[in-house]
Amino acid sequence: MENFKVHTTSPEETMGIAERLGLLLNAGAVITLEGDLGAGKTHFTKGLAKGLNVKRTVNSPTFTIIKEYKGRLPLYHMDVYRVCEADEDLGFDEYFYGYGVTVVEWASLIKEQLPQELLSIEISHAGEDNREIVFRPKGERYILLCKELLNL
Ligand code: ADP
Ligand code: MG
Repeated sequence: MENFKVHTTSPEETMGIAERLGLLLNAGAVITLEGDLGAGKTHFTKGLAKGLNVKRTVNSPTFTIIKEYKGRLPLYHMDVYRVCEADEDLGFDEYFYGYGVTVVEWASLIKEQLPQELLSIEISHAGEDNREIVFRPKGERYILLCKELLNL
């Protein structure tokens, strides 16, 4: 399957799509989020958390790198913006190959350390409250996941 794009016109709409994705996710899923500051990566994660039945409020983990939430599956929310030149092994593998769902904001900063198979999502500003969201599944399981998401 090719990459696919959706457009949203409000934070709620972005969170709604992310929530649908959250409902479909299986154990061990890895999602990377790219996009400028204010693109909507954290809002996307909030919606995804709702789909995973996380009850706590999800906030940006900028000062902690990783925050963990209980849900239908554990959610590991990483923001690696402050991880500079991460040749350093910060133990990401425990999360990437663990049972929970990992969401990584600014994933390109640690691209050497990412697993080969993942769902890459890029959010771009498209004027005011408009955003373009591009899904790029890497690997069969993520292709199937995207097909399911599109069929909803
Ligand atoms: P990031 O984590 O990428 O820095 P945030 O999710 O923290 O971004 O912030 C996104 C900001 O953009 C919020 O203030 C949100 O209200 C606003 N916004 C406006 N339109 C949208 C949209 N369509 N999708 C997501 N966020 C939007
Ligand atoms: Mg953020």
